[in-house]
Amino acid sequence: MKCSRCGSDAVIFYPQSRQALCTEHLQEYLLRKVTRAIRRFKMLERGEKVLVAVSGGKDSLLLWYLLKELGHTVEGVHINLGLGDYSKLSEEVSRRFAERIGCRLQVIGVEEDYGINIVGTSRRLHRPPCSVCGTVKRYVLNKAAVESGSVLATGHNLDDEAATLMGNILSWNLEQLRRASPALPSNHPKLARRIKPLIYITEKESATFCLARGIEYVLPECPYSLAARLAVVKDALARVEDKSPGTLLNFVDSFYRKRPEFLRSISFWPSLLFP
Ligand code: SF4
Ligand code: ZN
Repeated sequence: MKCSRCGSDAVIFYPQSRQALCTEHLQEYLLRKVTRAIRRFKMLERGEKVLVAVSGGKDSLLLWYLLKELGHTVEGVHINLGLGDYSKLSEEVSRRFAERIGCRLQVIGVEEDYGINIVGTSRRLHRPPCSVCGTVKRYVLNKAAVESGSVLATGHNLDDEAATLMGNILSWNLEQLRRASPALPSNHPKLARRIKPLIYITEKESATFCLARGIEYVLPECPYSLAARLAVVKDALARVEDKSPGTLLNFVDSFYRKRPEFLRSISFWPSLLFP
C-alpha cells in the first residue's frame, strides 16, 4: 500500500477517507491534530512551560515527541510506582527516550520519595490498587507541575477520553460530565493546569506511529490494569470503532461541541428527578 500524498510505503490506512499515509505524512497529520486540540481548547499560551507525565507507554512518549516537534518548552516527569518489574521497565524506557530526544526527565519514586507502597496501602484500605495509584499519581504529578511552574500534559488519547465519558454516562456521574474537559483550568495556586493534547489521536494512530518511528515503549500492561472498569468500557468501544470507524471522534467531538447546551440542560435535571 502506498501513501496517498507522496507514493512511498504507507504505514496506516483510513477506511473512511480511503487514504493511506507514510510515516512522514502520518507525523504531519498527528502534529496538525495536536495543534488543532491546543487551539480549540486554548490549552497553551505562547512560551508556556509544559511538563509531560511520562509513563513509558506509547501515548505519553508520543505526546512528548510531538510537543517537542511543535517547538514547545517541554520536560518530562516519570513516577516509579513501585509495581515490580513493570515499574522498573517503565522507568528504563522513559529514561532512554528522554536521552534520545535530548530532554530533561524528572524521576520520582513513590516508595523512595514518599514512603508509599501502593499495593500494601490498597490492601490496608480495602480499596482497589488503581484507586490508590490514581490518587497518588494525581498528587505527585500536580506537585511536580506546580513546583516547576508548568502546565501538566497527559497522554490521554481519543479512545481514553471516549471511555471516560462513556463510563461517566453509564453511571450517570453528572458531576464528572459537567467538569469534563481536555483542558482543566487551575482555580488555586497549588493546582496546576492540566491538558490532554492527544484528544483527537486514536490508540491505533499512536501505536502505528511509535512503531513506524522506532519509538520503543512499554508493551506489557500494568499487572493491575485488568481490574480497571475503564478497560472494559474501552474494549467495548474499540469494537464499535472497528465496525464503524470515526464513531469515537464523533462522540468526543460532539460532546465538547454540545457541551454548553448539555450543561444548560443538566442544570434542570435535579428539579425533574427530585421534584
Ligand atoms: Fe496504577 Fe491501575 Fe494504572 Fe496500574 S492500571 S498504573 S495500578 S492506575
Ligand atoms: Zn507520504
